Amino acid sequence: MTAARATRRQFLKTTAAAASVVAFPAPMLAQGARPNVVVIGGGFGGTACARALRKADPAIAITLITSNDRYFASPHSNAGIAGLTDLQQQLFSYDGVGADGIDVKIATATAIDPVKKTVRFNTGSEPLHYERMVMSPGIQLLKGFIPGYDDRAMSRMPAAYFNGGEASQLRGELEAMEDGGTVVISSPVNPARCPPAPYERASLIAHYLKAKKPKSKVIVLDAKESFTMQKLFEAAWAELYPGLIEWIGLSNGGALSEVDVSTKTLSTDFDKYKAAVASIIPPQKAGAAAELAGVADRTGWCPVDPLTFESRLQKGIHVIGDAAIAGAMPRSASAAQSQARTCAGAIAALLSGKTPAAPTLTSSCYSLIAPDYAISQKGIYRQADDQYVAAEGGPVLSPANAPRSTRKTDAEQAYAWFKTITGEVFG
Ligand SMILES: Cc1cc2nc3c(=O)[nH]c(=O)nc-3n(C[C@H](O)[C@H](O)[C@H](O)COP(=O)(O)OP(=O)(O)OC[C@H]3O[C@@H](n4cnc5c(N)ncnc54)[C@H](O)[C@@H]3O)c2cc1C
Repeated sequence: MTAARATRRQFLKTTAAAASVVAFPAPMLAQGARPNVVVIGGGFGGTACARALRKADPAIAITLITSNDRYFASPHSNAGIAGLTDLQQQLFSYDGVGADGIDVKIATATAIDPVKKTVRFNTGSEPLHYERMVMSPGIQLLKGFIPGYDDRAMSRMPAAYFNGGEASQLRGELEAMEDGGTVVISSPVNPARCPPAPYERASLIAHYLKAKKPKSKVIVLDAKESFTMQKLFEAAWAELYPGLIEWIGLSNGGALSEVDVSTKTLSTDFDKYKAAVASIIPPQKAGAAAELAGVADRTGWCPVDPLTFESRLQKGIHVIGDAAIAGAMPRSASAAQSQARTCAGAIAALLSGKTPAAPTLTSSCYSLIAPDYAISQKGIYRQADDQYVAAEGGPVLSPANAPRSTRKTDAEQAYAWFKTITGEVFG
């Protein structure tokens, strides 16, 4: 090693030590510890938070724990199900995250002790201690919400809401289906992940059927009386897919009452629907890891302090993304990324004894209705009454009765948005 190099290394050591003196509160310095933040869940929320935390304070040791070595991104997966894109494009590795100096551990958290501040894994490795934990475990689907909706029904009529294998299965079934078959999608009550996703799925499947199996149709059975961006979706369906999509809302018998997996029959109080291909999107709650940590309340979701995203039930654990209750914010990848950045800033501030700044958050959701036709909903969210509310005027929707050029521009923005967010989070 040359003298010049040694001097430079000493300089870096000294400045890092000096920075840590400024950055960390006295109790931590007394322990001589480097603060350790453990992030559970390598989806949009968790991965974005780990990276934002790395940027906010290079001195914090960050471990990202996630179940699989590749992440299946759900945004745009409906396009893959409809055969417009290759589902392989939805898969992302954590190589870029590791290169950022974040310790990525592929394992499933199986026990979390919020008092001892430790987490255990399915790999049997030593439990890990954390100073603060961030959880972004996504959602779990409610098995058994109606008679017949068991493990077999879940795999034969898959939701494909986070699982790439299920998305490929639906793709294969659509290809194998005879012309004249019925595709049934059931849409759940809110709160749920990405509220427009079932209707985007219906639209893009209709696009495929119109071109390849025009005698077929899509039926959407809805447990709700109305749905997000309904007027925009219905106008687009009338224009692009007349007679191909039938939406049945709650008061017309949209809520499922039973399923028969052996015949792929979906029943409501009003009727029975025999499906050639079915995708049941059931009611949801926060990912199971939230229950392990005791951060989910009786609703199944996780109440948090909106300033820091720290759990209201367990100190030292922050919850972001779809699992968190974030007022009017939708459960979207875009919202998860915005929450992740806010949460990372708050943790860096808390670890250095500062007060986190009051945040403004954003969410942009695009829904593809055809490859060159999209609609969107964009919102800004601020704290009021201890929760997030949409900024005055509410979220901005694509205009009604807009020309096709506007829908085409929205579609181009939708593809650009996906490239940007996946590049920022996983690239
Ligand atoms: C069909 C569809 C279309 C969508 N389209 C859009 C869109 O256009 N725009 C948009 O903004 N959003 C969209 N979304 C929503 C978006 O995918 C979610 O809001 C987003 O993924 C939420 O991020 P998250 O971090 O909360 O959860 P996730 O992304 O689901 O990540 C959770 C991660 O935690 C891991 N995990 C869970 N438990 C454990 C454990 N115990 N140990 C270790 N790891 C664990 C999981 O394996 C997973 O990797 C769409 C969703 C769907 C289903």
